[in-house]
Amino acid sequence: MKSCGPCTQCCRVLAVEELAKPMGKLCVHARPGAGCGIYETRPHSCRTFECVWLMDPEMPHRFRPDQTKVVLDQDPQGLWLIARCDAANPQAWRRNPMYAALKAFATEHWGKGKLVLAVAGRRTWVITPKADIDLGEIDPRSGLKVVEGPGGVTIEVSASKA
Ligand code: SF4
Ligand code: SF4
Repeated sequence: MKSCGPCTQCCRVLAVEELAKPMGKLCVHARPGAGCGIYETRPHSCRTFECVWLMDPEMPHRFRPDQTKVVLDQDPQGLWLIARCDAANPQAWRRNPMYAALKAFATEHWGKGKLVLAVAGRRTWVITPKADIDLGEIDPRSGLKVVEGPGGVTIEVSASKA
């Protein structure tokens, strides 16, 4: 069974609405090396977050989020894999071994209804087998639709669903 060890990357990168904690700021309750200081009463969004590295027994140590500076986040419906980076380190997803793994994942799932994204703050990229498409700063609740045409792949961004 894996453990977080000294990693606190999700407690920095992710926003926690219940605590009014913004993205990119280490949570005041984080105790590096000792986990969450309010573990028993931590908010719902912290309880339900499923870190891909932590959940996957096969994913090696070098992918632990404090090593890569990338938190891999997957939605429960299996529609997205998101490489979440700190806005202060927005290119972290482009470094290997993470980048090669994201490309391999995008190649495996392309056309099967699952998108691979990189997100740093609100800046969002769609990682496709061939290209990485920069969507700029978008609302994280936006809908994304892949359109494949003779000129290549484009992504339509629709208004926030909320
Ligand atoms: S990012 Fe994953 S490994 Fe790191 S502290 Fe969060 S849950 Fe643990
Ligand atoms: S409450 Fe705990 S688990 Fe949630 S972000 Fe803060 S330190 Fe992390």
